[in-house]
Amino acid sequence: MNKLTISNGTVIPQLGLGVFKNPDGESTVNAVKWALEAGYRHIDTATVYHNEASVGIGIKESGVKREDIFLTTKLASSDVRARNAVEAFKKSLEELQTDYVDLYLIHWPVEYRVEAWKHIIDFYNEGKIRAIGVSNFTRECIEELEKEGLMLPMVNQIESNPYFQNDELIKYCQDRGIVVEVWSPLGGTGGSILEDEVLKEIGAKYNKSPAQVVIRWHLQRGVVVLAKSTHQNRIIENLNVEDFTLDEEDMAKMKSLNRNTRTGRDPQVVIDEAKKVMAEAQ
Ligand code: NDP
Repeated sequence: MNKLTISNGTVIPQLGLGVFKNPDGESTVNAVKWALEAGYRHIDTATVYHNEASVGIGIKESGVKREDIFLTTKLASSDVRARNAVEAFKKSLEELQTDYVDLYLIHWPVEYRVEAWKHIIDFYNEGKIRAIGVSNFTRECIEELEKEGLMLPMVNQIESNPYFQNDELIKYCQDRGIVVEVWSPLGGTGGSILEDEVLKEIGAKYNKSPAQVVIRWHLQRGVVVLAKSTHQNRIIENLNVEDFTLDEEDMAKMKSLNRNTRTGRDPQVVIDEAKKVMAEAQ
């Protein structure tokens, strides 16, 4: 699997397994094991997914060495608001059965995010995290950290899929050397993007599934793709995207699918709520 290099030199596999909405227990343990057995070396979880413990077990049971795996987790909004980053990070490490993570992110740009970011910089400087970043941060939120004179995030994990391509924010980040990771790359659990006739048509040309076409498209855009599945056959299928390249015409067709419709929460709503809470607190 292709790899990207984060601004501090950390290498990140460009395709990772996501485990959002994967229940804690056998389902997550198996997904992680199947992925690692198939050749994935990148797992993306979060405190709020309540499955960090199962991710830790899956990693242990896979027999793949911890240092060969790129492991991400995220600081939950409730812990950012409660100014509880130190305890929350400690608990994540315990749940994951590890003494470091490869990437730690602020999950959403809620109130007290700047304070949380300062803690994350401390964890990084203490050597407990290999790379640090944010998720669902808009340009405004990144510039806020810049104005505070703080280290810029090395990664921003944001929504992007064929119907919500999010190109402007991706370009803004990439121009600043911030690696972009895309969430709900296939349109999310319960979505219908993979039914799109254009994806089927492109897939038929290469004997690939719509999911493989979408993952290939993301890879060619230079972003990190976090795809989730609870099925072993799909986990393997999603990794099998290295033996074809979408040509210019396909890439143009993919671009034309954009409808600017999100599948998930709009970060701006979260930011506006945070502003209100902070104004009331003063
Ligand atoms: P995805 O876009 O990865 O889509 C997952 C859905 O696609 C599931 O229903 C899955 O079904 C289905 N699927 C997967 N592979 C195939 C395939 N080959 N063929 C057909 N269907 C397939 O959704 P997510 O929302 O989970 O996003 C991916 C990851 O991004 C998350 O797991 C999480 O790690 C991260 N994320 C981060 C967020 C953030 O705020 N930072 C927000 C949302 C997600 P099934 O499981 O039944 O196989």
